[in-house]
Amino acid sequence: MDDAELDLNRLSRDFVDAMSGRVGDYSDMGIRFEPKICLIRCPEDLTELKDIVNLGHRFPRIGRPDRVIYNASEILKSGNFEIENHMEEILNRAITENRLEMYYQPIYDVKAGRFRSAEALVRLNDTQYGMVPPGLFIPAAEAMGLVLPIGEIVMESVFRFIAEHDLDALGLDYIEINLSVAQCMRRGFPDAVERLRQRYGIRPGQVNLEITETMFDNMGDVVEKNLWALYDKGYRFSLDDYGTGYSNIRRLSRLPLSLIKIDKSLVDVMFTPHGEVIMRNTVRMMQGIEKELVIEGVETEAAVNALAGMSCDFIQGYYYSKPLPEKAFLEFIGERAGIREEGIGNRE
Ligand code: C2E
Ligand code: MG
Ligand code: MG
Repeated sequence: MDDAELDLNRLSRDFVDAMSGRVGDYSDMGIRFEPKICLIRCPEDLTELKDIVNLGHRFPRIGRPDRVIYNASEILKSGNFEIENHMEEILNRAITENRLEMYYQPIYDVKAGRFRSAEALVRLNDTQYGMVPPGLFIPAAEAMGLVLPIGEIVMESVFRFIAEHDLDALGLDYIEINLSVAQCMRRGFPDAVERLRQRYGIRPGQVNLEITETMFDNMGDVVEKNLWALYDKGYRFSLDDYGTGYSNIRRLSRLPLSLIKIDKSLVDVMFTPHGEVIMRNTVRMMQGIEKELVIEGVETEAAVNALAGMSCDFIQGYYYSKPLPEKAFLEFIGERAGIREEGIGNRE
């Protein structure tokens, strides 16, 4: 480290010490400052102003809560900065060059002792950056207004998949499709789904549409109206990622939800004393308001057995299978459709 850099580090530290934990006034609200500093060396780290601005936008989401000073070089090297920095280009390429592919993750019905559904999960394989995780590109597409064309591609691919394969023969009742808030907010959404369904000649009950609680933050009324319009036509819904946000139980019981999907974060703490109590009572509460439950992100036999003991309805997770490309998924389900009676142990 040269002298100038040492000075800068010392200055940053003084600033952080002075600001940390201070509560300032903004209007009549007390705001707690949590300073975080990023040292960018130009031109070694970044040369273009737009890249510096981009890093500035992302920086608050990067890093650990206990750390305040970062060097841009370590952030640029780690994680997905390069991908995030070129996201618009990647998304446009994905849409125009058709680089999106659907994977399917089987979902196990505990009581029936077999796989009865699956979740469709989109994959983006970019020519330049390789596999880009949906956890990264879906929120970016939402922010850039590009999620609608992606949603249309996803829905059409899944409807085509259902039309081309005999789900009944495979023992599958429906395929779950993740929706984004932008789709659900569109006034013409129910009609668009219906037109597509009729084009592919599938039944509404063969799809289950996954929504999240955050969809109700701004446009709750329109979203709710759309859900009911689709429900009346025979579509069914799941609430995804339950346990990660702020839950309004009254609204939950009022919405046309057949399934509640419990997030992996609750499974991860299931073997702690409080985690077990939370899971057991969540299962009981959902059953009390007549919702079926899918537990997501189950990776171990111990968790499968514990959840089966709590009489939860469905289990989805790496224990049974990762999301698979279409052909591998069909093979997986086809093989297991013949061995339905072996109980919860019939995994890969
Ligand atoms: P999600 O809808 O909650 O999907 C479940 C995620 O958990 C998937 O990640 C799946 O691969 C992962 N998962 C399932 N079982 C396990 C497990 O046992 N262990 C671990 N570690 N992970 C497990 P994925 O495919 O990366 O998707 C991430 C998120 O991206 C999804 O979360 C969903 O919010 C979004 N997404 C994915 N596909 C689509 C799509 O077609 N449309 C929209 N709008 N969003 C999508
Ligand atoms: Mg989902
Ligand atoms: Mg989820």
